[in-house]
Amino acid sequence: MGKQINVTRSSMPPFEEYVEEIRSLWDSRWLTNMGEKHNQLEQKLQEVLGGKRVSLFTNGHMALELVLQAMGLEGEVITTPFTFVSTTHAIVRAGLTPVFCDVKESDGTLDPDKLEALITPRTCAIVPVHVYGNLCDDEAISAIAKKHGLKVIYDAAHAFGASRNGVAAGALGDAAMFSFHATKVFHTIEGGGICCADPAVHRTLDRLRDFGILDAEHVSMPAPNAKMNEFCAAMGLCNLRRMDEVIAARKEAAVRYMERLEGVPGVHILLQKDEALIPNYAYLPVTFDPETFGEGRNDVMSRLAAEHIGSRKYFYPLMSDLTCYREQYDSAATPVAKKLASQVLTLPLFEELGAEGADRICDIVLRH
Ligand SMILES: *Cc1c(COP(=O)(O)O)cnc(C)c1O
Repeated sequence: MGKQINVTRSSMPPFEEYVEEIRSLWDSRWLTNMGEKHNQLEQKLQEVLGGKRVSLFTNGHMALELVLQAMGLEGEVITTPFTFVSTTHAIVRAGLTPVFCDVKESDGTLDPDKLEALITPRTCAIVPVHVYGNLCDDEAISAIAKKHGLKVIYDAAHAFGASRNGVAAGALGDAAMFSFHATKVFHTIEGGGICCADPAVHRTLDRLRDFGILDAEHVSMPAPNAKMNEFCAAMGLCNLRRMDEVIAARKEAAVRYMERLEGVPGVHILLQKDEALIPNYAYLPVTFDPETFGEGRNDVMSRLAAEHIGSRKYFYPLMSDLTCYREQYDSAATPVAKKLASQVLTLPLFEELGAEGADRICDIVLRH
């Protein structure tokens, strides 16, 4: 019996490096409110994420909710039901109405061919998701958005470090949200960021993350507190130095999974195999077709659990099937997303897994 393997495991810098990074906070006693570490991290991330200005937040969810508000949107937002609950909640909590568009079977990203039919006079924006680090077809999505005067705000929570043809995920769309949650490829323990070229949006975001405060005597709007603190920013500065190393280590395990699982009848790794894409190996999503594989993903999940290996039905259920949304939507309207949600299983992938770890998991997956 092998030891427990969880589906993910946070990357960490050496302990001494983090302690060194936070040492100055004992002198400055400036622990939050746009401190030195926060501002350094904003600068550094701007370079890494594609060049647009970055605003930091307490988490990715608040970043997305607030950027939708900062853009002054009203009405319907076309988005994907095949995502984490945060995407849909952010749209609803920003006072907007989600309209679900189907996804592509090959990679789970929004299908631009299904987009235009969903546009109504009330549509104001599109919120696609670079799911698992698979980059959306931005060319097609942006062309449709331009034609109809819509904003494109990417949920790029999974896309840190991914780029296509040299264009980083943060450079796509009118704005892009990144999550720096502990389980993401790059993290600040909890944290998030918005990449956006429009200085007016950043000015509004600066206020929206800080109670709407303009200055000591002026408050412009009722806004929440969504600031990133110095300890989280310091973790980000340390983790950023290790990004190449972390992604290279994840790649080793991911490549072994691909060697072992690719070509097995009924098994499909839901990651783009595009020459122009530099992937970030954020997740290892696999679909199992019960007809051809002879077993469904629930069975694979149970067999892994019996051997102390964690896996996740990421993403199941679809947003349109969640208790809080299912009365308003019919998930049968997005059949491809429905099928993926019923077949997908995300296998363990993290920095220390290694090719041997991936082999152990593949041995179990394929022994049925
Ligand atoms: C993680 C995640 C978020 C939310 O990020 P937090 O930093 O955890 O708030 C949003 N969308 C997707 C697709 C995510 O995976």
